[in-house]
Amino acid sequence: LIEIKHLWKTYGANVVLENLSLSIEAGEFCTLVGPSGCGKSTFLRMLLGEESPSKGVFLFEGKPFPKEPSVERGIVFQRYSLFSHLTVLDNVMLGIELGESRFLGKLFGSAQKRAKEEAIAMLEAVGLGDVLHHYPSALSGGMQQRLSIAQSLVKKPKLLLLDEPFGALDPGIRADMHALILDLWKKNNLTVVMVTHDLHEGFYLGTRLLVFDKVRNDPQAPNAFGAKITYDIPLIREKVKDE
Ligand code: ATP
Ligand code: MG
Repeated sequence: LIEIKHLWKTYGANVVLENLSLSIEAGEFCTLVGPSGCGKSTFLRMLLGEESPSKGVFLFEGKPFPKEPSVERGIVFQRYSLFSHLTVLDNVMLGIELGESRFLGKLFGSAQKRAKEEAIAMLEAVGLGDVLHHYPSALSGGMQQRLSIAQSLVKKPKLLLLDEPFGALDPGIRADMHALILDLWKKNNLTVVMVTHDLHEGFYLGTRLLVFDKVRNDPQAPNAFGAKITYDIPLIREKVKDE
């Protein structure tokens, strides 16, 4: 699905990513760990299309990455980007409309009816079928994150990007979210790239664990080197998850 060769990302003199090469197959669940500031979010923003590489080959399904974020890719951040003045259902409806608006504008008639059915089905799939007409402020942190996931997945992306999505949640709620995300991954044939600071989470969820690190960090010139992939570990738990 994704082919990256000799990818560099720099901001002025600050080298963030140094000469990364990797390919990600459709259906993989890659978890990505690494020290703070090493470029994990920058890498996800590149996969989303919000940032372009400074140098290197960066292909999505064999073609150069589209410059702008598209419906093929969805992202969920640690802090939710929900619209507080819209209900749960309207937040997801808006996700569909924004995805299609480049071509259609606001949805009317049968398109709107279909979008609403899809939004409700998605909300039921993430366990929010009972709160369709509530506002985000009335939801718990875990529920808000379920809503963010629904908002991303309703566009039916092939690639789901998760940037520390559960970092702000209580451990008990996090376990529920793990079950949910594995379920959605399997049912929707998703390819997932997820950044986490929790190594246990990385091992538990992933079919493959990537470790980014700035291996040649020089205190005199902290930004002279970028992050590399220091470990790329296949996780055999994949077999268990496929059952
Ligand atoms: P954390 O674990 O704390 O979230 P991270 O691994 O996600 O860290 P990034 O947010 O990707 O790290 O940042 C990597 C480096 O890129 C940092 O040095 C940051 O200052 C720099 N950086 C990120 N975005 C920009 C930008 N738009 N302009 C300039 N520098 C940037
Ligand atoms: Mg980050």
